[in-house]
Amino acid sequence: MENKGFGAETIFIIEENCQGCNKCIRNCPVFGANVSYTIDGATKVRVNPKMCIHCGKCIDVCDHNARDYRDDTERFFQDLQQGKEISVLVAPAARANFPEYKRVIGYLKEAGAHLVYDVSFGADITVWAYLKVMAEKGVSSIIAQPCPVIVNYVEKHNPVLLDYLAPVHSPMLCAAIYLRKYQGCRDRLAFLSPCIGKSDEIRDTNTEKIVTYNVTFKKLNAYLTMKGINLNEYPEREFDDPGCGLGYVFPRPGGLRENVQAIAGKIWIRQVEGQEEAYHYLHEYRRRLERGKKLPPLVDILNCPYGCNKGTGTNQEVDLDDIDLAMEAFAQEKSADEKSRKLKNSSAKLFKIFNKELKLDDFYRRYKKVEVQPLMEPTPEEYAAIFLKLHKDTPDSQKINCSACGYQTCHEMARAIFNQLDRPEDCMDYNRKEVIRENLRLEEKNREIERMLAEITQLSDERQQRAAELTRRIHEITISMEQVYRGNEQAAQEIEKIGSDVGEVAEYAERLRKLVAEINDNVDRFTEATGDILGVARQTKILSLNAGIEAARSGEHGKGFNVLAQEIKRLAEESQNTAEEALGNEEAIQVLVVKVFEISNTIDQKMAAVNMAIKNIAAIIQEFIAQGEEMVAATTNIVHDYTRNQD
Ligand code: SF4
Ligand code: SF4
Ligand code: SF4
Repeated sequence: MENKGFGAETIFIIEENCQGCNKCIRNCPVFGANVSYTIDGATKVRVNPKMCIHCGKCIDVCDHNARDYRDDTERFFQDLQQGKEISVLVAPAARANFPEYKRVIGYLKEAGAHLVYDVSFGADITVWAYLKVMAEKGVSSIIAQPCPVIVNYVEKHNPVLLDYLAPVHSPMLCAAIYLRKYQGCRDRLAFLSPCIGKSDEIRDTNTEKIVTYNVTFKKLNAYLTMKGINLNEYPEREFDDPGCGLGYVFPRPGGLRENVQAIAGKIWIRQVEGQEEAYHYLHEYRRRLERGKKLPPLVDILNCPYGCNKGTGTNQEVDLDDIDLAMEAFAQEKSADEKSRKLKNSSAKLFKIFNKELKLDDFYRRYKKVEVQPLMEPTPEEYAAIFLKLHKDTPDSQKINCSACGYQTCHEMARAIFNQLDRPEDCMDYNRKEVIRENLRLEEKNREIERMLAEITQLSDERQQRAAELTRRIHEITISMEQVYRGNEQAAQEIEKIGSDVGEVAEYAERLRKLVAEINDNVDRFTEATGDILGVARQTKILSLNAGIEAARSGEHGKGFNVLAQEIKRLAEESQNTAEEALGNEEAIQVLVVKVFEISNTIDQKMAAVNMAIKNIAAIIQEFIAQGEEMVAATTNIVHDYTRNQD
């Protein structure tokens, strides 16, 4: 993941490699060029492209390969392969970085490059122009600008010094302008460069975009390796330029000073190199300027401590001594070279030619202020608030200045936080205090836990008591439930008994019905018998009457009377029998009546029993309801007690 949040920029973060060590912030010469942020809880530090001057320091110091840059190498080779007309300008630092640099020229030519120029020649033009400007334009002090990073810095962060930047193009641009204007070269131009910052220079509108590609040594090497290109397989070729003067020493620290002093003698030249010194010096320069103090006529200043030979776009693995040896070898070769000897004393002779053939205005450089994200300066109250956030509530704690956050002072860190460039969590002291606070919080928590344990123990005792109480109540409920169960059982038995009693009542009622029917029959028979007796009685009366009459009239005829007497006797016997039978029927009726009475009693008793059973059931149900209510109350108490215990 590259340069999150800022798009495709020259220098970017490789997020997955970043360890949040803050080394990039600590080493960056520009306040605000790095932004700390977190992703999934991990600290990362990205480049802020608006503020970054492409000094390359963060790439250099990052131990985790979390910073990289992009240049135009890929595009250059693609265009070359597509047959675009391209000539190449080669920085003099190539001699130190490619011992086989002549084979590089050979390779470039075979790859399709037209002209290949040594920018040392452009450096000669630059020095010539500097001297002219210093002599002719009446400037009292100029800051050399071959280093695009220094230009970036002034344009972005110290625009007060814009007027003091040398109004002359860099060696690269001077060579390009020479090719374009004096050699009529219409090709696209590529710069084989030791510098990431050259990308800014070639895109600057003030350089008219004469150069199209910045192909750094480092990316060129990577490209050759990736493509499996072995330079030894290519012939050595020479540059196409007319030959340089002392310009070839430009890439080493003090190269400009050496060139100028070779012509102008021992003039005061301030020589400054390296990120640690260069930007600090420019502050100093500005302070002197503001105070009206004397300034050096020329400031030979470079971003890289070992000059362009170990520039930001080089592999930087070359030994300093090897650089010296490479340059010395070239110096010897140069002095032995026929062409150079023609240009003996090179620079001086060249300058005479330049005086005749070149126009200073063609190499004139302009600058512009580049707007950057303005950084806010907190008020004292705002500083105090930020320090409070950082747990820095004493003057001493605000001056720990350990630089673990990447900033030189706690004050700077507070300013970074105010400008949302960093977060308190990046401060070592803040984290230490957070740990202490956390410990205190833990101790307090421990005490709280101990208090809670004591409470829990007490609660536990109470709970045990309540549990016993609960057990007792549950026992009561169990008993109640058993009683309910038994009550139900009793009710069932009572109901069964009622059923059986009701059955018996029905049986007795049936028997009663039959007895009543029987009584009816007997009564009928009695009535009938009584009728018979009455008939016999009437007949006896008539017969007695007739026998009396007969006896009176005919004694002789007493025989008839005798028959009558016999008849009366028979009738009397019949009457007696019938009467006896009637008497028997009456007894039977009396027996039946007694039985009916008994049955009636039995029914009454049974009904009373049913009544009693119903009352029993009602009582049982009442008891059941009462027990139910008891159970509900007991359960409610249990729940209430339980809830209270939970609280
Ligand atoms: S130097 Fe910067 S980019 Fe590199 S790992 Fe550290 S914080 Fe990340
Ligand atoms: S390249 Fe230089 S200016 Fe840019 S972030 Fe890195 S160290 Fe800072
Ligand atoms: S104490 Fe914190 S703010 Fe101060 S320099 Fe150290 S890390 Fe940065």
